[in-house]
Amino acid sequence: LLRAVGVRKHFGGTEVLRGIDLSVRKGQVVCLLGPSGAGKSTFLRCINHLETIDGGQVWVDGEPIGFRLHKGKLHELREREVARQRRDIGMVFQRFNLFAHRSVLENVIEGPVRVRGVSQAEARKTALELLDRVGLAHRADAYPEQLSGGQQQRVAIARSLAMKPKLMLFDEPTSALDPELVGEVLEVMTALAAEGMTMVVVTHEMGFAREVADEVVFMADGAVVETGPPGEVLVDPKHERTRQFLARIL
Ligand code: ATP
Ligand code: MG
Repeated sequence: LLRAVGVRKHFGGTEVLRGIDLSVRKGQVVCLLGPSGAGKSTFLRCINHLETIDGGQVWVDGEPIGFRLHKGKLHELREREVARQRRDIGMVFQRFNLFAHRSVLENVIEGPVRVRGVSQAEARKTALELLDRVGLAHRADAYPEQLSGGQQQRVAIARSLAMKPKLMLFDEPTSALDPELVGEVLEVMTALAAEGMTMVVVTHEMGFAREVADEVVFMADGAVVETGPPGEVLVDPKHERTRQFLARIL
């Protein structure tokens, strides 16, 4: 479903991504780990073309992101068309980015109504189902500031799902949360994975990576150092760099 080939990105003179390859099949969960500055967030942003890439190519469900394939050649898309591609890719950030002046329900309805042209009534029905799935149907009329961080993050996940994405990207979705709130968000993500959502998750939650990930990718200095099933990469890493990292965070 997702294929990244040789993705390169630099900021000024610094090469932040030095040719990243990643393949994710439909329904798979891949966890990305690595030290601060490894380029994990930049790579996620390259997947949905929030960053333009300097080399390589990203494909989602057979479509080249940021480009259109015509007669065997890639033609760059305009921003409006990229935004259309991006609708199929959900993204959840460390900070929940909810609309502060809108209720929980309005937050979840906004995208489908405004961007997908779904009717208010239908969007509302779907939103309530999604809020129920993340355990927050009873807070539909609350405002974000009235919710805990964990609840806000669950709303952010419901809001992403309302767009019916093919792929979900998570960038350290629990690292801004108080420890006692981490579990409820991971539970929602675990359920989502069990339902077959394709997910790329940047996280330092080793329990989640071990139990939910099909594949773990360890990145450092803008490159993939090591990749494999969690039972291998997390338990018996092949590379010294991976070993050092795991020793520090476990
Ligand atoms: P962390 O674990 O701290 O979130 P990360 O692996 O997500 O780290 P990135 O945020 O992708 O790392 O950053 C990789 C490198 O790119 C860093 O050196 C960072 O300073 C640099 N960088 C990221 N975004 C920009 C930008 N917009 N302009 C310039 N440099 C940037
Ligand atoms: Mg990051």
